[in-house]
Amino acid sequence: MVSTVIPVPPFDLVIFGATGDLAHRKILPSLFRRMAAHQVPAGSRVIGAARSKMSRADFRKAAGEALTRYVEAKLLAPALVERFLGMIDYVSIDAAGEGGWGPLAKKLDEKPDSVRAFYLSVAPQLFTPIAHRLAQAGIATPESRIVVEKPLGHDLASARALNAELAQHFDEHQIYRIDHYLGKETVQNLMAIRFANALFEPLWNSHYVEQVQITVAESIGVEGRGAYYDKAGAMRDMVQNHMMQLLCLTAMEPPSKFEPDAVRDEKLKVIRALDPLKMSDTVRGQYRANGKDGSYLDHVGNPASRTESFVAFRAHIANWRWSGTPFYLRTGKKLSARLSEICVVFKHPPHTIFPQVDTLRGNALIIRLQPNEGITLRVAIKDPGPGGMRLVEVPLDMTFASTLGPDGEMPEAYERLIMDVIRGNQTLFMRGDEVEAAWEWTDPIIQAWEDSGSRPLPYDPGGAGPIDAYKLTGSDGHLWREIAA
Ligand code: NAP
Repeated sequence: MVSTVIPVPPFDLVIFGATGDLAHRKILPSLFRRMAAHQVPAGSRVIGAARSKMSRADFRKAAGEALTRYVEAKLLAPALVERFLGMIDYVSIDAAGEGGWGPLAKKLDEKPDSVRAFYLSVAPQLFTPIAHRLAQAGIATPESRIVVEKPLGHDLASARALNAELAQHFDEHQIYRIDHYLGKETVQNLMAIRFANALFEPLWNSHYVEQVQITVAESIGVEGRGAYYDKAGAMRDMVQNHMMQLLCLTAMEPPSKFEPDAVRDEKLKVIRALDPLKMSDTVRGQYRANGKDGSYLDHVGNPASRTESFVAFRAHIANWRWSGTPFYLRTGKKLSARLSEICVVFKHPPHTIFPQVDTLRGNALIIRLQPNEGITLRVAIKDPGPGGMRLVEVPLDMTFASTLGPDGEMPEAYERLIMDVIRGNQTLFMRGDEVEAAWEWTDPIIQAWEDSGSRPLPYDPGGAGPIDAYKLTGSDGHLWREIAA
């Protein structure tokens, strides 16, 4: 299967924060890969912006180094690298100051017909000043796009304030709130599996689905992000955004059309249908030290911290489709493997003619985001060979790497999402009301933890979080899936 490339119009992409980690590790390499896939039209430009005083040549050199570091060597044909660096420019701008806006406006005015997009790859406190300056300097046109990334607020009040500030200068159709999980091929395939096949949708409800598990596990600790992380914790850093999005895509009703607002309306309905979380349905954890490697408290340098590096909870969606089906979600650091997956576990057959059926785990659709993106359907079959009717569970494997073949290597989430910005397609981006609804649901439980004065439970690195997490599923007669890559 060969992937097709959707043409996009010529564009000017201005990257604020162009000298930073995200720009070097993801944005520039993604643009390069899209160029290698012939998706970047001639005449397009990438204009870096940051405070550092650099010439265009300096920034090109830095961009070239980023490609060498983060793009597969086999893609780095010299002529292509040359072409890519040829479309790169740089302006020194302090988001909070006056200098640089005039030169940026002048550059952009050279190509009035190009799509204008501003990627704010900077700290969130700079989102509003940049949006304001872009409008004030007449750089943002009614069709320009602005891209922002998490954290989108710290709670409902700050998310509302951010949305309101952006809305002063940009219409909702111009705002692209990136959640890179939504750009993952498998996540989009979840929609394809559900809505392009007649097979699953009739079973996709509480009559047939026993439970759903969503796991986002990391094997690393806070790794240098301690100061930020300790103010956030797993609930704000992972659940409010990425995991809520996965939950929405798993549980939403079929949208009437595959169009941005039709999809986002359905996702929003899921968040609004969530029952408030009870304290007793949540388990928080903090990883302990492991030999020389310190504990969470050591890593964030705050012995009194009550921030969770692990959270697991049981959610209920109060609507006709899902009433009675528990959704178990967990995420944490220093777990046994780096793994992100959604697992939809189906009920056992209503009547069994094989005595062994009760010992099987049952059908499950496992949507794996990382590592090895793919979808697996667990089914029971007869164990081959003589020896009677013994059953065995096997995976029907849809690993995309093998399905797509060598020509169809999976694009990075950012590649897809940046091109969607240029195309003006917001389907895979969060709308402001979704972000607010997600905070509205997570805020009360964060508040309840704070009010309780209780501490997260300690857990050993390399495992599956605190033992109490097992009680969450265990009390319903269910078992978490193993966290194994
Ligand atoms: P970073 O490495 O600290 O880079 C920050 C960038 O902002 C630098 O280019 C810096 O350049 C620029 N900058 C700082 N102050 C500025 C100002 N006043 N005016 C103009 N530019 C300014 O941060 P990052 O890791 O790339 O992250 C950027 C944003 O993406 C953050 O909001 C982060 O939360 C989010 N994010 C990052 C990742 C990731 O993997 N890195 C993942 C998800 C979300 P100068 O110092 O030259 O001005």
